[in-house]
Amino acid sequence: MNFFRNKILLSVLFVVLVVIVPSFIFSIYQYSTITDEEMVIDEVYNNQLESILFSINQYSVDVTDAWVKRIDEIYSSDAQVNLNSLDNFLNRNDVLRQLNILNYDNPEIPGIEISKRNDKEVINLAIIEYLEGNQNEISDLFDYLGNNYQKVLGEQFLVAPELTFLVFVLMKDNKQNVGILTINTKQFVSEILSPKIQQIGEERMNILVFENNKSEIVYSNSTSINDVESVQKSKELWLIPGYSVGIHLTGKTLNDLVKKRVRTVIFLVILFNLLIIFGTWFLYYNVKKEMELAKIKSEFVSNVSHELRTPLAMISMYSETLMMDRVKDDKKKKEYYEVIQLETNRLNGIVSNILNFSRIENNKRSYSFIACLLNEVVNEVIHVYKHELQSKGFTYDLILSDDLSKIIIDKDAVKDAVINLISNSVKYSEENKHISILTNTEGKYQFIEIRDNGIGINEKEQKHIFEKFYRVREADLAYKAQGSGLGLSIVKHIMDAHKGRITVNSKPNIGSSFKLLFPLQT
Ligand code: ADP
Repeated sequence: MNFFRNKILLSVLFVVLVVIVPSFIFSIYQYSTITDEEMVIDEVYNNQLESILFSINQYSVDVTDAWVKRIDEIYSSDAQVNLNSLDNFLNRNDVLRQLNILNYDNPEIPGIEISKRNDKEVINLAIIEYLEGNQNEISDLFDYLGNNYQKVLGEQFLVAPELTFLVFVLMKDNKQNVGILTINTKQFVSEILSPKIQQIGEERMNILVFENNKSEIVYSNSTSINDVESVQKSKELWLIPGYSVGIHLTGKTLNDLVKKRVRTVIFLVILFNLLIIFGTWFLYYNVKKEMELAKIKSEFVSNVSHELRTPLAMISMYSETLMMDRVKDDKKKKEYYEVIQLETNRLNGIVSNILNFSRIENNKRSYSFIACLLNEVVNEVIHVYKHELQSKGFTYDLILSDDLSKIIIDKDAVKDAVINLISNSVKYSEENKHISILTNTEGKYQFIEIRDNGIGINEKEQKHIFEKFYRVREADLAYKAQGSGLGLSIVKHIMDAHKGRITVNSKPNIGSSFKLLFPLQT
């Protein structure tokens, strides 16, 4: 038994170690890597969006750099500035609205001024004001130029919010000059940036340029996107203050895909774990059942051997005494024969219970039904058992109804059932040795009831007493009384075969009543 139990425990331990623990570790690992992966994917995704936005900014810088370079070329090529060429340059491009080149040391002196605007006076004043207020920035531009880097600043002035002023510096004859190329902002976006945006965005994503504070879309490569909120990533335009470029991915975003994947993986992990938990529970349940069954079987074998040994010992002892002719008194002799008879009956009962049980288990128990009176069954049983009852000090009442009609039953099987119940009443009664047997009708049933004043069964145990091999181990007598735990399970089977019921009504230390209910119409 111990070996058997150890073997089961070992297998459970094996399953736990080889299957359950690794799969739990795997699940936890999977779960933790999801967040890591999500972060990595998010980073890659962000980097890609950033580089797209960067390339648009870079493109606008390249374009303006080319303009400034061209202006510088024309401005610096001759001692006398070729105003015609500058004029042509501005006229060829509608985005360019005005060009001012001023002497930085003395901006009040009129420098070069080419304009397509009517409000150029206002603009010129704003430029002078700007140069006075931003000397640090301008001197930085000269420093950069000293290092061969022509940096361009983008500025906006309140007097003309629709314009952007590209500020740069030029050196000519060792004199510091500041150039301001005024461009129309929206035209710059729609004419210069838009072809580039279309090329980058293609069908895959919507790229739009919008004014930050007004959330107004200035340009979008798709007509379907009309609100700035839907933008997934945006960056300020370097050269145009207050303007940003943003991206909105068409179809499912990478974030959506990652979220979906995370949801699927988490769902699968939970499902997987539930399956494992269910499997483990199932395994545990079966192993536990197996162990209980093994225990019950071994108990059963020892109970039955015990039950058989007592009558056999009695029979052998009494028959030996008789054979040796040691008993001279005829009355005594009769008593001895009676004991042998009783013990033989008991043996018979035990063996027939075991045989019945084995037939039931193998689905081989068959019933033959006939029309019969329940009173007849009771009377026949009592006829055989009254001696036994009397010899054991029991009194009994028969309260049998005269109004019963014949019903269809297997007479022998019902007798077996009644015998089982009476012998239980005998086994489980202490001082108060009285049994009542009743028959009557109750609703659509006729019944046989066996009542005793024995030790009773507590409510918790009552649910189990009809299970095979089940024995109550509580009261002293219940513990000592011999039995196999088969009797009531056989009675229940017999009642099921009659489409009837067995009920128990019992109170500890007061007594028990078992009722066999047979349906009137079967
Ligand atoms: P057993 O061979 O143990 O008597 P049964 O299946 O006939 O097996 O009964 C199951 C258990 O129900 C018994 O072990 C006993 O504890 C309890 N029991 C059955 N009948 C009675 C009764 N009349 N009074 C008290 N306990 C009973």
